[in-house]
Amino acid sequence: MKSTRTRGEETEPRSIALAASDDQPDTRLAEEREHRYLEEQLRGALERGELSLYYQPQFEVRTVRLAGSEALLRWNHPVRGMISPAQFIPIAEESGLIVPIGTWVLQEACRQNYLWQQAGYDPIRVAVNISAQQFAQVDFSSTVAKALAASGLDARYLELEMTEMVLMRDIRIFGPRLANLKTLGVQLSMDDFGSGALSLPELVRLPVDSLKIDVPFVRGLNETPGTLRLVNAIVALGHSLGMNLIAEGVETEEQLEQLRQLGCDKAQGYLFSAAVSANDSEDYQRLTAGPPEQEEPR
Ligand code: C2E
Ligand code: MG
Ligand code: MG
Repeated sequence: MKSTRTRGEETEPRSIALAASDDQPDTRLAEEREHRYLEEQLRGALERGELSLYYQPQFEVRTVRLAGSEALLRWNHPVRGMISPAQFIPIAEESGLIVPIGTWVLQEACRQNYLWQQAGYDPIRVAVNISAQQFAQVDFSSTVAKALAASGLDARYLELEMTEMVLMRDIRIFGPRLANLKTLGVQLSMDDFGSGALSLPELVRLPVDSLKIDVPFVRGLNETPGTLRLVNAIVALGHSLGMNLIAEGVETEEQLEQLRQLGCDKAQGYLFSAAVSANDSEDYQRLTAGPPEQEEPR
């Protein structure tokens, strides 16, 4: 379950987090040591080939056909085994390592997606998570352009996911950067929609193609009174702005059926598949890919 925010802008300062987590000096020291150990290990993880991308399929809700895939970073540490992104991405962000790692993620996702197309699979769009620090780099658009050019992937098959907090930071500075990205031809989506400090006037001005409905809303559909109406309103809002709606964390048939009735466009979650290795993801591409439905250009 994704309970920890992992894109820096939403995490509390480390000193506060540590103070709140435990008053015991021994525990604090152990946590500090663990943090330093992971940071040091993360520094060489890319070169040692310990990082990889897993892919979680996304499906069209109406037809249950494969619509795309979200690339999710995995760290297989030689001693610790699989370390969760919730644990290491905040460390990568704090140390600035997220910038080179994030560039590698972009390159690798583009490379892999192009390879799939070359191997004859129906083209799908791969979504890549972008952290605040990456987006803040002045040359971010050119990093994206280079990743596309180096791989040969057409920009329409790349989607960049950013949270509300990243997208709404300072529209005066970042608005032109988003416009540059749109000029490249990539798709933009707002991740974890509904969990940040949303400003509706800014949402209207953002050149975003999709809204991703955050896991708690999907979970709340049949658990929390009022959530159904809330999700209904989010879908209507997104559609009125010409955006696609993607539900995250779909775990049951009942949730899928409710999302279908609400007119949600796409869904991902354990009901279909967890994120799997590039090799394993070929299995569902073989089985379920189909021509993408027409999407309104924005
Ligand atoms: P996210 O982008 O919102 O990704 C969705 C998370 O929900 C993933 O967790 C996914 O495995 C998990 N999930 C998928 N299906 C279900 C479900 O049915 N139920 C529930 N409860 N959860 C589901 P994961 O892979 O642990 O990643 C956590 C977060 O780490 C991501 O959240 C994203 O914010 C961050 N992250 C992962 N890869 C990258 C990356 O390459 N770069 C950056 N900057 N952040 C990344
Ligand atoms: Mg995401
Ligand atoms: Mg999300």
